[in-house]
Amino acid sequence: MNKFLTIAQAWKIAVFHTEEEKQLADERMEVCNDCSMLQEVDVKNMTGGLINNYFMCGGCGCPMQGKMFTPKDAPKEQKCPQGKWKI
Ligand code: SF4
Repeated sequence: MNKFLTIAQAWKIAVFHTEEEKQLADERMEVCNDCSMLQEVDVKNMTGGLINNYFMCGGCGCPMQGKMFTPKDAPKEQKCPQGKWKI
């Protein structure tokens, strides 16, 4: 699976997910919340409050809203860049 297909599938799952996929995303996010690479991106000030701040992985630059829904069958190198996720 190429990287762009994985990203597209992750965002699709972020919108249309099963309970199991949501549970996996929540488990991954718990790991990310304890990771020093998790970064808050401050866009609220730049956009005059139109867009809320969001969190991204500093290791790959992906926004967490989509990243945490990376498909289970995606290659390992397309998941957590630090190898911290179980799945
Ligand atoms: S995906 Fe991995 S490296 Fe990125 S914030 Fe989460 S735990 Fe940290």
